[in-house]
Amino acid sequence: MFNEVNPFALPDKPVEECGVFGIYAPGMDVARITYYGLYALQHRGQESAGIAVADGRQVQLHKGMGLVTEVFTRHSLDKFSGHMAIGHVRYSTTGASQPLNAQPLVFRYAKGMLGLAHNGNLTNVTDLRSQLASTGSVFQSSTDSEVLVNLIARYNANSLEEALMKCMIDVKGAYSLLIITENALYAARDPHGFRPLCLGRLGDGYVIASESCALTTVGAAFIRDVEPGEIIRIDREGVTSTQGFKAQNPAHCIFEYIYFARPDSTMDTFNVNKVRREMGRQLAREYPVEADIVIPVPDSGTAAARGYAEESGIPFEEGLMKNRYIGRTFIQPTQEMREIGVRLKLNPIREVLQGKRVVMVDDSIVRGTTSQKLVAMLRQAGAREVHMCISSPPVLRSCYYGIDTSDEQELIAAKMPLEEIRRSINADGLHYLSLEGLLDIFAPKQNHFCTACFSGNYPVEVPRPKESGKYSLE
Ligand code: SF4
Repeated sequence: MFNEVNPFALPDKPVEECGVFGIYAPGMDVARITYYGLYALQHRGQESAGIAVADGRQVQLHKGMGLVTEVFTRHSLDKFSGHMAIGHVRYSTTGASQPLNAQPLVFRYAKGMLGLAHNGNLTNVTDLRSQLASTGSVFQSSTDSEVLVNLIARYNANSLEEALMKCMIDVKGAYSLLIITENALYAARDPHGFRPLCLGRLGDGYVIASESCALTTVGAAFIRDVEPGEIIRIDREGVTSTQGFKAQNPAHCIFEYIYFARPDSTMDTFNVNKVRREMGRQLAREYPVEADIVIPVPDSGTAAARGYAEESGIPFEEGLMKNRYIGRTFIQPTQEMREIGVRLKLNPIREVLQGKRVVMVDDSIVRGTTSQKLVAMLRQAGAREVHMCISSPPVLRSCYYGIDTSDEQELIAAKMPLEEIRRSINADGLHYLSLEGLLDIFAPKQNHFCTACFSGNYPVEVPRPKESGKYSLE
């Protein structure tokens, strides 16, 4: 199925989860800075966007369905006043795609007002929700983030840090959180550090974001990553750090480096572009191919294709042209017009491909439907041979930590052996980067990553598929 949610992405890709951005900066236009921060994080979620601003007395909120540029106008930003803000861009990994589920969630409770923006997926949300419901909690939305809000409100007898520490005992899974009250901004990252979160300095203020590309976009200087299990509080006294829960074995999502994150981001000390390039180099060492040109599936395959070309000595070329102007209002092609759909996004350059033996580098194959179309497209454009090189290992298992990788029965690598996949996409060769080769790139921190969708080793117990609350696109 064509990806209705992210019109910019190819249909056969895992879908990004969410992005969060927060700022504490008295004297600055925090709403506008958050808007620009969210704009830099738009690749992490295109369904909805929202900003909550606090001024010491109240928390104001504006959110809606659509891209950042669709949800906010100059007028809606002008209405905000305050010195700190949090923002969120969302793709629904749990909870349906509807306005009620857009974030930040803003609540009034016994201690005042509280806004929350969450990236990640809780794995024990079904149990927590029924426990809370049985003791009187009511839920407005179907998101796991609202479970967090309820727990925080329930535990906040003395301080929000204490409430968060108690929450961290109860909740399992992936969360990078931003919370705003009338007086302070808080950030928390789960004890495994599944989803990224980093802290930066902007003038006399501070900024916290899912990716460092959002910090640099707004002119902030990167300070450090938020540590797994850490709680940060920012207020007029400055930054206070508390270890909310003992850090567990690190399990940063390795797929962030393969596909989700922006190449100009550095997460947990590794720059995404550099890692992708090294993936391509490693792929060329593992699978040297006799070919005339190396081309990427743009954009996420570009850095790996350059790496492959550098290592192999085969010239890098752009053989597929990406259309960057497909917006949300793009009318999706009907079933009979699927070919047009892919060609609108990627069109082959005949003059580059004609008569050539081509290595085509892509970051991943999920269902295999796009790979098949791309190989056919290159052949129609005159390519003599097409060797598909994938800069990640085969995706065999579903993700329960905030990424929509499709259900397991739809994953082509879980359904058929390599040779059968090669035949089904009609490539002359098909090569995946080995998991060992991928992890070697991060040496000596090979053990700091979640690789569950490749290896099946889930760092945190996962719910049975029926209970997971996971929504697939198809
Ligand atoms: Fe990332 Fe895969 Fe782990 Fe999910 S299962 S957190 S996509 S590495």
